[in-house]
Formats: sequence, structure tokens, C-alpha cells
Amino acid sequence: MMKNSSINYFVPKRTFGNTGVKISKLCLGGGSFTGTASQALLDEALKYGIDCWEIVSFISGNVYYEYFNKHPEIRDNVFLTGKVYSADPIVMQEQLDKALKENGTTFLDFLAIHPVDNIMVLTNDVRKWVEKVKKEKKIRFFGFCTHKNMDNCLSGAAELGWIDGIQTVYNYRLQSIKSMEDALQKCHEKGIGIFAVKSMGLTVQKKDKLHRFPLNEEKLNTKFAVHGMSFEQAKLKAIWQNPNLTSTCSLMPDIMILQANASAAMDEHPLNVEIQELLTEYSDSTGHYFCRRCGICDTANTDKIPIFNLMEMLMYSRGYGAKVKELIAKRFKQIPIDIREKITDSDYSGAEKICPQKMPIVQLMREAYKEFSK
Ligand code: SF4
Repeated sequence: MMKNSSINYFVPKRTFGNTGVKISKLCLGGGSFTGTASQALLDEALKYGIDCWEIVSFISGNVYYEYFNKHPEIRDNVFLTGKVYSADPIVMQEQLDKALKENGTTFLDFLAIHPVDNIMVLTNDVRKWVEKVKKEKKIRFFGFCTHKNMDNCLSGAAELGWIDGIQTVYNYRLQSIKSMEDALQKCHEKGIGIFAVKSMGLTVQKKDKLHRFPLNEEKLNTKFAVHGMSFEQAKLKAIWQNPNLTSTCSLMPDIMILQANASAAMDEHPLNVEIQELLTEYSDSTGHYFCRRCGICDTANTDKIPIFNLMEMLMYSRGYGAKVKELIAKRFKQIPIDIREKITDSDYSGAEKICPQKMPIVQLMREAYKEFSK
């Protein structure tokens, strides 16, 4: 927990793009509801003024339905975000109606297509459908989630003129990438609200191996404790230093994590130089195990191995642990068998050459195959 020097009693709010709506700069991530105490978690979020709540259809269950049923007056006081998993208006309509029903609400404040790695999917048909559901008051604002090729998606969306908000991967590691910072600035100037996700900047490396680095999480926590914060809190504060961001979605599966994150959000003092330097040092020393999600490696492998996808699976399985095992196994099996069989022996030399993070792709692909094909 941070020192009791915070000047706020509630998590501060930021304006969501050009909408004029103010939302808490900390958003309760939809993946937080893995335990049984989800209703208490929502009570606690409101206590801290965390009024931005995310729905993740396959995890959130009926958590919001129960809450709004019990506290109908709360619905209008929170900013509820949800997703559809297609850019086909017929499917989008079905998925939106399902989300409204399952979550006990007649509207979503923000609806996003997930995932978008090329803005070409945001067609005129999508725009017309968005206008329709806005008119029907089923959604207030619209946008997309981007987890790959984020800088180009953000820049491109800024030119479209009908995107209200974007949920993008963003964390302290990506703050050194100029194209990403420029794209966020461009979105901000065009009045697009931004949610940051994957705020912890997890790597694809195993935790025990990361621990062997001269500067590791344990050492960082000891150093940051002197300044009254944890490594996780420092990472969140680094994101909020960017004024182009509206809110950071965070996984807060228990009340202690929620309180720690809220505490970091309430203390708006900038990070001091020593903390910023330590974040940079850690980011640099572990950077070859951090996939920045540019996706260019996929273009440099003749066997069509989905390198980026496998990197993401490694990040989830090594960073999130047993709770994602089933999801990863399912995703791995979706790779066609003839491609799967080539993962171990494929030629990754071209991909390694162009990877901006200089990741050891050969080694990581072999490890991914070994771990996921069990
Ligand atoms: S080129 Fe490197 S950083 Fe980019 S997606 Fe591939 S593995 Fe990740």
C-alpha cells in the first residue's frame, strides 16, 4: 500500500474523449470476477469511485445482472463497457442483445469490436449499424479493442471520424515506442477516449527464469517500497502519466488488489526520477522476452506459423497461470494440424531478424509447442 499522502478520497476521473462523460481513470477489468466475492468487489469499487466497469462475456458471468437487480439505482451511475466479437452487423446485433440481456441492462455505455488489428474491418456497414443502435439507445459510444498492430490501428482510427473510444494494449514498456505515443496523441487530439489494457506489460518468459535476472521483481519491490509503492503500482502510475489515456482496465480479482490500485490512482504525484529509471532499466533488461505485438514476424515465416499468436499464448500461460490453461489448450488446437506439426522445425531466421524486440523466436516456438501440445 502507498503512504497516506494521497490528496484524493476517490479515484480521479478523466473525460472520455469528446463525449464529455467523465469516468474513473481506473476501470474494473471484466476478468476480475473469478472468485465468489464478486458482489463485494463491486461494492468496494464504488466505495473508491471506480465507476468504469468492463464486461468480458466468457468470464463476467451474471455478476452485473445480479448487482443491477439488487441495486437498480446504480446502473446509471456506472460506465459499462462491453464487446462484440465480429464486424458482421447481424452477428454484432445478436451479441449485443445477448450482452444486454445477460447483464441486466438496456444499454451499454461503450461497445467495442474485439479484436481489431486492421481498421479495414471498420466498414461503412459497421458505421451504419453503429448509428442504428445508438439511435435505439442500446449503446452510447462505440469503438474497438486492439491487441496487435496497435499503433497503426490507433492512427488509422483517428482519421475515421466516427470512433468514440479504443481499448488498446498499453503499458510502461510501450512508452518508449514513438509510433505508439504519437498514435495516442493523435487519438486524443481527435477526441477519442482511450482505455489501456495489459497494463502490467508481462513477458513470455517463465517467472523462475525472470527471477534470475540481476534486476528482478523482488529487488524492484524492495527499491519501490522506500517510495511507498509496489512494482505493480509504479507500472499503473507510469501509464496515468500519459494524459492522452482516459482509463486503465485492471484485473482486480480481490479487494486487496483493488485497494492497492485505487490507492495508486488517488495519489497523483508524478513518479520520481529514480522510479522511472528503474522501470526503464527493467524494461530494457527483459525486453527480449516482451512481445510488443507488432505482428511483423508472421510475414517472415513461409510455413505460416502464427508466431504472434503463440507468443501471446506463452504470455498468458506463463503470466496468468493455471486459470487460463483450458483457454490456451483450446486456442492451440485451433491451429491447423499441418501447421502445428511444423512449429518445432520451421525456419524462424527471417522473423528473428526483423523482430524489433530481438526475441529468441526459435527457442520460444519450441517451448510453446512442448508446453501446449501435452
Ligand atoms: S516481431 Fe517480435 S515483437 Fe513483433 S509480434 Fe513478432 S515476436 Fe512480437
